Amino acid sequence: MQAYLPDHYRLLGVSVRAGADEIKASYRKLSRVFHPDRQQGSERATDCFKQISQAYAELSDEQKRARYDRAMLLKDPLRMVDDPRAARALDVLDLVVTRFRRKSPELLGLEQGRDLRVQHDLDFTRALMGGEIRVEAAYDTACSACAGEGTCEPERNPVCHVCQGLGRLRVGLRRQEMTCGFCQGRGAVLLAPCQSCRGEGKVPYRQQVLVAVPPRTRDGTHLRVRGAGERATLGGPAGDLVVVTTVRRHPLLRLEGDDLTCTLPLTFAQATGGARVAVPTMEGPETLRILPGTPVGREFRIAGRGAPVAGARPEPGKPVRRGDLRIRVTLDVPEHAPAAVVEALREQEARMGPTGFAQATAFARAVEATRPGTPDPDRAQGSPTPS
Ligand SMILES: [Zn+2]
Ligand SMILES: [Zn+2]
Repeated sequence: MQAYLPDHYRLLGVSVRAGADEIKASYRKLSRVFHPDRQQGSERATDCFKQISQAYAELSDEQKRARYDRAMLLKDPLRMVDDPRAARALDVLDLVVTRFRRKSPELLGLEQGRDLRVQHDLDFTRALMGGEIRVEAAYDTACSACAGEGTCEPERNPVCHVCQGLGRLRVGLRRQEMTCGFCQGRGAVLLAPCQSCRGEGKVPYRQQVLVAVPPRTRDGTHLRVRGAGERATLGGPAGDLVVVTTVRRHPLLRLEGDDLTCTLPLTFAQATGGARVAVPTMEGPETLRILPGTPVGREFRIAGRGAPVAGARPEPGKPVRRGDLRIRVTLDVPEHAPAAVVEALREQEARMGPTGFAQATAFARAVEATRPGTPDPDRAQGSPTPS
C-alpha cells in the first residue's frame, strides 16, 4: 500500500469546516503531545511537530487558508466535504497504547526458520576439484530487545490522530485505501523508538558458514547446508542455507569427459627447434618440454592431471582418481609478418632443398600425378610397346 502524506486538516485533526478558534485549540492540544521539549528531544516528535506547525501556520492565516482550500478542491473535491468524525479526531490522543503494532510482522511467530538463498561465484579450479568455501549468511531477524515491536515503551507513543489509530486512510475520488504517512501505518506514532533497533523492529544478523563444494560442481548447482538458514523466532528448527553457484570459466582449460584439454600455440621456431613452454594445470603453471620437430596436432598427455573422475567415490587415504590433461599443439602463424621476415624464411626454405620439407614436397608431387594425361607409371610398365 502506498503511503499518504496527510493534508493540513488531517494533520491538525480538524474538519475542513473548522473555525479559527477550533484550529488554534487543536494546535495547542497537539503541541502538548508533540513538542520536542515534551518528548525528550525525540527526533520523530521534532519532525511531527514541524509538520503540525506548518499546517497551523497556513490554516491560521485567512488568505493562505483560502488559497490552500482552492488547491485542495481541485485535487480532491470529496475531501472538502465536511466530515463530522473529524471533529472528534483528537480524542484518540487521550488513549494509551499498551501494545504497539509490530514493525516487522513478517519476522515474528516463525515456527520454522526460512531458507536463505545466497549466490556464490566459484572459480573453475574450486568447482572442478571441490573444496570448502566461506559464505556469509546475512538476514534480518526480529529485535530481541523490543520483540520486534520497535519500541520498549508502547505507552509513550500516542495513538495517531490522523488515521485515528487505523494506520490507513481513504483518499481521493475513488476513496483508495492508503497507508497513513503520519504513523507509517502503525496506528500510533513512534516517538519512543527501541534503542537497539532504532524502531525498525529488526536487526541484521550475519554468520560465516563453511560450505563443502563437491568435485565437478556445475553452474547453477544448489548446495544446501541444513540449519544454516534463518533462525525460527519461536524456537523451532532453523531454515537451510542454499548456495546457488556460478562457475567462472577457465581462460585456457576446457573439460572433455574426465579430461582437461588445452590448445598450445607454438611459434615456428619453437615447433621446429624445440622449447620449454609454460602450460596451465589445476595446480598452477608448469613447464612442458617441446622436442625439436613437433608437428601441429601433436598431443601431450599428462596422466592423472585432469578432472576428478565423474561418479568416482573418494576413498579415505587415497588420492582422487583423475582423468588426464591433454595439451594439443597448434602453430601460431603471424597474420602480418614483415616482408623481410617472409623473404628470409623463403630463402632458408630454399636452402634446405626438397628434402627439408619432405611432406610438402611429397604432397606437391602426388597432386601433379593426378593431372589428366600424365603417363600412368603402372600401365607404362605392364604393357610393352609392340615393336
Ligand atoms: Zn528493538
Ligand atoms: Zn496514522
